[in-house]
Amino acid sequence: MTTVAVVGLGGLGSAAAYSLARRGADVIGFEQFELGHVRGASHDHSRIIRRSYHTPHYVRLTADAYRAWRDVENHSGQQVITTTGGIDLFPRDAAIDHGTYTSSLDSERVAYEWLDGAEVRRRWPAFAGGHLVADDVMAIHSPDTGIVPPNRSTTLLQQLAREHGAQLRERTPVRGIRPVGGEVDVITDEGATRVGAVVLTVDAWANRLLQPLGLQVPLAVTREQVSYFPRPDLERFGVGRFPVWIWMDDPSFYGFPVFGPVAGLKGSEDCGGPPVHPDTRSFEPDPKMEARLQAFMEGLVGPGFGAPATTTCLYTLTADRDFLLDRLPEHPQVCIALGAAHGFKFAAWFGEQLAALALGQSTGPELAPFAFSRPSLHEPIDRSAWLV
Ligand SMILES: Cc1cc2nc3c(=O)[nH]c(=O)nc-3n(C[C@H](O)[C@H](O)[C@H](O)COP(=O)(O)OP(=O)(O)OC[C@H]3O[C@@H](n4cnc5c(N)ncnc54)[C@H](O)[C@@H]3O)c2cc1C
Repeated sequence: MTTVAVVGLGGLGSAAAYSLARRGADVIGFEQFELGHVRGASHDHSRIIRRSYHTPHYVRLTADAYRAWRDVENHSGQQVITTTGGIDLFPRDAAIDHGTYTSSLDSERVAYEWLDGAEVRRRWPAFAGGHLVADDVMAIHSPDTGIVPPNRSTTLLQQLAREHGAQLRERTPVRGIRPVGGEVDVITDEGATRVGAVVLTVDAWANRLLQPLGLQVPLAVTREQVSYFPRPDLERFGVGRFPVWIWMDDPSFYGFPVFGPVAGLKGSEDCGGPPVHPDTRSFEPDPKMEARLQAFMEGLVGPGFGAPATTTCLYTLTADRDFLLDRLPEHPQVCIALGAAHGFKFAAWFGEQLAALALGQSTGPELAPFAFSRPSLHEPIDRSAWLV
C-alpha cells in the first residue's frame, strides 16, 4: 500500500490521517508544533456546524459534513456533534442577502423556518434583554445547527489515526517537499522521507511550501479572537434555551449557547481581526475588538457582561472564501486543502476527500468548484468577497 505523508495535523490533516489509515495506507503525519497546540485554527471548544449556506452546492455538502462526523462518532463511540438549533439573523437592509440562503435551502429541500424578531424573542427570551432583535429583524431558524468541539475532535481523529497504524510526528517541521518522478521527498531537519503521495493541510503556512514549487495562492491570514463573557444569569443561555446565532450584517458577529468547560457566553466577530504573519503574530487579545464585541452582545441580549476570557486564532482566507481542495498542477501526487476560515464543520469530510485524492481514488464532481486552477482563487484579496 502507498505511503502517504500528511503535513500539518490540525483538524483537516488529522482527519486525512485517520481516513487514509482506515483505508490501509501507511501514514506519516508531520506537525511543526506539539499536537493540540493553539497557534493555528483548530483549537478552542466550539465551532458551528450548520446546513444554512449561501449556495446550493455548500448546502448539499453540509449533508456530507454531518454524515462524515456521524461516521467518526459511530466508529469511535464518542459524540462529536451537539445539536443546539441555530438562527441566522438579518436586520433590515442587511449587508448579507438572506435570499441567497433561503433559495439555497429551498433548492436542496432542507427544512427551516423564517421567523420575525418577535417570534425569536418569544422562543429565546434572552434576546428580549437587548434591543437589536427588533420586530423587523428576520431569522432563518435551522433546527439541525450544532456545535463541533475543534480541540476535542481533532485529538479524537489523531487517536483514531494512530489506532489504525498512522505515525504522527509532532515538533517536526517540514522544510520542503520535492516531487521526484511519481513520488515525493518530504524534507525535515532529519533528512528526506520518500513517499508515494503528500497531503498538504498547513492552512496559514501554505505558501511557504507552495512557493518553492513555483506555486502561490493569494491568502489573507488574520488574527481573530473569541471571547467568553461571564454573566450572573448564564443559565438563561444554556443549550436548549439559547441557540447558535449569526448576525448577517457588516460587521458580522456570531455566538453560541454556553457550552464546554469555560463558564461564559461566547461570541466573536467574523473577519474582524488584523492581517498577521502566522509565525510572528501576537497572542495578546485586542481590547478594542473585545469592546466592539461586548457592545454588540449587550445590544443583542442586554447588559450584565463581566470581563471576558479571550483566545486568539488564525483565519486563512482565500480570495473568494471558497475552499481549496485539489491535486497540485503538475504534481498530482501532492494534494492540498484549505478551509477558507469555515472549514472545521467539514473536517471529517475533507479527510475523506483528501484520502481519495492521495490514493488516486475517485472523488465526485462536487470538488470542481474548489479546484486550484479556478480564476477566482487567484484574484487579488478583496474583503467584500468574504461577506457571505
Ligand atoms: C475564531 C475562529 C472561528 C471559526 N469558526 C468556525 C465555525 O464556526 N465553523 C467552521 O466550520 N469553521 C470555523 N473556523 C474555521 C476552521 O476552524 C478552520 O477552517 C480549520 O480549523 C482549519 O483547519 P486546518 O487543519 O486546515 O488548519 P490548522 O488547524 O491551522 O492546521 C494547520 C497545521 O499545519 C501545521 N503546519 C504548518 N506548516 C507546517 C510545516 N511546514 N510542517 C509541519 N506542520 C506544519 C500547523 O502548525 C498547524 O497545526 C473558525 C476559525 C477561527 C480561527
